[in-house]
Amino acid sequence: MKVEKIILLLALIGTVAVGFFFYSTARDYAYEKLCAQNIQKIEAAVNAYNLIHSPENYFDSHQNLDQAVLVKEGLLTMPLDCPSGGMYLIKNKRIICTVHNHEN
Ligand SMILES: [Zn+2]
Repeated sequence: MKVEKIILLLALIGTVAVGFFFYSTARDYAYEKLCAQNIQKIEAAVNAYNLIHSPENYFDSHQNLDQAVLVKEGLLTMPLDCPSGGMYLIKNKRIICTVHNHEN
């Protein structure tokens, strides 16, 4: 009787662990996709900025990503944040995330 309870408890713990693993993996995948979409939106805003301010290039005039400039220009509705807490930076004239390191 006691052995059956221990086996049941271990099975329950295993089920919870597997469930958490799949939940965590699915959440991380969703965050990564959302982050990639944010980077695409920021890059589109930067491209629009470059067209409006031609021949000035956003990457030449901003060493750090300043989303406030893009919002002020009406190119972004609001500053975008990585859902995993990463920061968006400019690297080699591209927008990257410090957590996901997308370079599209
Ligand atoms: Zn990210």
